[in-house]
Amino acid sequence: MSAQDLSPAAKKTKLDGSANEEKLKKMIEKVKVVLLDIEGTITPITFVHDILFPYIRKHLSDYLDKHWKEAECQQDVEALRQLAAEDTKAGTPGAITIPAASDDSKERKNIIQAVIESVNWLMDADRKVTALKQLQGHMWKDGYVEGALMGQVYEDVVPILEQWKRARKDIYIYSSGSVGAQKLLFGYSTYGDLLYLFSGHFDTKIGMKVEADSYHKIAEEIKCQPEDILFLTDVVREAKPAEEAGLNVALVIRPGNAPLTDEDKQHYSTLTSFDVLQPDNEFMR
Ligand SMILES: [Mg+2]
Repeated sequence: MSAQDLSPAAKKTKLDGSANEEKLKKMIEKVKVVLLDIEGTITPITFVHDILFPYIRKHLSDYLDKHWKEAECQQDVEALRQLAAEDTKAGTPGAITIPAASDDSKERKNIIQAVIESVNWLMDADRKVTALKQLQGHMWKDGYVEGALMGQVYEDVVPILEQWKRARKDIYIYSSGSVGAQKLLFGYSTYGDLLYLFSGHFDTKIGMKVEADSYHKIAEEIKCQPEDILFLTDVVREAKPAEEAGLNVALVIRPGNAPLTDEDKQHYSTLTSFDVLQPDNEFMR
């Protein structure tokens, strides 16, 4: 997918001077820090399901062939083998047994086949298990480094983030995806390496995104007051706790995101493009 395809309208958003826009403008002027969600905010909500997950299914066989003799790959396989054994023991329907490790080339084929079936089965069931995540993480890293995968970011995002930086605002990421996965997405994006834009990254190690305490902790970690931060997200269940913690909050509306209720739209400032968050007056003239 080319960068152009990511923008529903490859043109600058027209400002209408509405109360909503005025409020957003005031917010960006006063804050020192912008905290960003990823999916549905700066990256299409479909990226994980339409790009990252299918990548695993498509490339698993080749990946296992290529990396089979490496310790990391064998550790990933062993973790899947143990999980499969636990599932089988627990009588989980559909569990696929992975044969014991072997140097025999014929047996290797059987093992690889079982790993493929097992991974597909785990993904079909949307299992959130370390053994699966570990292998996926290693495969995605390989894909990014080789150029088969590229992180997607909406085209209005990078120019505004650069303006924020020039205006001495610090930019942080807060996502449920691991810091490692965040760094791959931005390090290997369709716009090149974007990691220079960010002062830091947070994931669920600091706490869940639906809990106000997580936002208090982030403010503490960044060493600023909650009201110095603007948090941008696409979902109310994250906006609400951030607001409770005293952060400024705005909801980002992007194609494919879950629709907001009229009540939400009334309560929160909303934006469909980062263009409305230019930090200077230039845009209003
Ligand atoms: Mg999101």
